Amino acid sequence: MTPSNSYTLSTIGIVHSCYKEKFGIPRQPGLVNAATARIELVSPYNRLDTLDGLNDFSHIWVQFIFHANLSTSWKAKVRPPRLGGKEKMGVFATRSTHRPNPIGLSVIKLGNIYQEGKKIFIDLHGADLLDGTPILDIKPYLPYADIIEEAQGGFAPTPTETKPVVFSKLAQQQCIEYQELHKTDISTLIKQIVAQDPRPSYLSDQTDREHGIQLWDIDIKWCARNTHLEILRLESKQE
Ligand code: SAM
Repeated sequence: MTPSNSYTLSTIGIVHSCYKEKFGIPRQPGLVNAATARIELVSPYNRLDTLDGLNDFSHIWVQFIFHANLSTSWKAKVRPPRLGGKEKMGVFATRSTHRPNPIGLSVIKLGNIYQEGKKIFIDLHGADLLDGTPILDIKPYLPYADIIEEAQGGFAPTPTETKPVVFSKLAQQQCIEYQELHKTDISTLIKQIVAQDPRPSYLSDQTDREHGIQLWDIDIKWCARNTHLEILRLESKQE
């Protein structure tokens, strides 16, 4: 059969994640392991038998659509944040979200698989996925085939170094209150996210400028100081 130039894919699930906007989401999975997300399977795939056997695996490959970038076009060369935005690389040599086919690929720690009423959920730990991300496929991670001891990491051989994070008194108190109310360790989550220093490269030299990261309905206000990153306060988006 002659291959076609275009194929139709269907969404098999939708992500519900703590990340309500792109800014602040880690650049790869596993960097912020306190991040919680879950995939909700959609019809006609919302059947437990599609997941039979998956529980025996610790990690899964998740293929998804960079749906928040669909209005932007791709370029042959892109500036990976890892290179400080100064150098360009071929799009296929990067994990850029702006690609000819806007498909993402993440290996993610698998949590519980369960049913709530008619809905089927798959818990994920440490995902790098925006809330509402459409999922195309899930496959088990196979250590015998997927671990490659001699693999080389090109311009990104190791994770970027994390930065020290300090909470203001106000932010500390607000985290305690949030934790009591929602039974969620939000201070660990904030610390792990901000420690990645998600500022774009052109702002990376600026100190004392306020940034916001939205987690659920909370806007986390923080800024860079000379020696560390400081969490200033938590603002409710509903106020
Ligand atoms: N691990 C995946 C990969 O390699 O294909 C994603 C890597 S990409 C560099 C990670 C970034 O994708 C995150 O920092 C976040 O800003 C962005 N992102 C996550 N979900 C997205 C979505 N649904 N639409 C657009 N961008 C998204």
